[in-house]
Amino acid sequence: MTTRPRVGVLALQGDFREHAAVLEHLGADVRLVRRPSELSGVDGLVLPGGESSVMEKLARAFDLVDPLRQAIAEGLPVYGTCAGLILLADRILDGIAGQHGLGGLDVSVRRNAFGSQLDSFETELRIPVLGEPPVHAVFIRAPVVEAAGPDVTPLASLPDGRMVAVQQGRLLGTSFHPEVTGDTRFHAYFLDTVRSAV
Ligand code: GLN
Repeated sequence: MTTRPRVGVLALQGDFREHAAVLEHLGADVRLVRRPSELSGVDGLVLPGGESSVMEKLARAFDLVDPLRQAIAEGLPVYGTCAGLILLADRILDGIAGQHGLGGLDVSVRRNAFGSQLDSFETELRIPVLGEPPVHAVFIRAPVVEAAGPDVTPLASLPDGRMVAVQQGRLLGTSFHPEVTGDTRFHAYFLDTVRSAV
């Protein structure tokens, strides 16, 4: 497609501004999404990092849960980082009571998987779909993908084998935060998915 992909960023809470800046830099037409009407017409959607339980409560308060679930079910390309990955997961481990997320991605995700000893850390990850060099990955109270269904492709894992980046068709999720590092390859990869889906 020659026109700019129109990409929504869920802007209820968390680091949506950082995502919007990266996507704009890559040439997307960015729309902040806070109400159901703002979802219509987007070609893709980013669910930012933040606090998944708070984002879910706000999504409920703003009547966004059902429209988001419907958009995902209809095949909207969605990229979730950290809390956004938790929202996208079909199964949440260590969620707060009543936390169900939006679902769509056939994975079990454990919240705050690194515990308090290792709350936040940075590491280099090999991500073959992004080529060289390795990605400098920033983890902040991050989740990991503990189990994934047959349609899920792991894109990156930690040295101990735990999955931290996954893809299932048009759905993409990372435990870490490419939006804070200046490495735009993950967002560019997502925009390729958005362009090919349009
Ligand atoms: N621990 C947060 C949660 O459960 C995610 C942290 C993040 O997005 N950096 O939602």
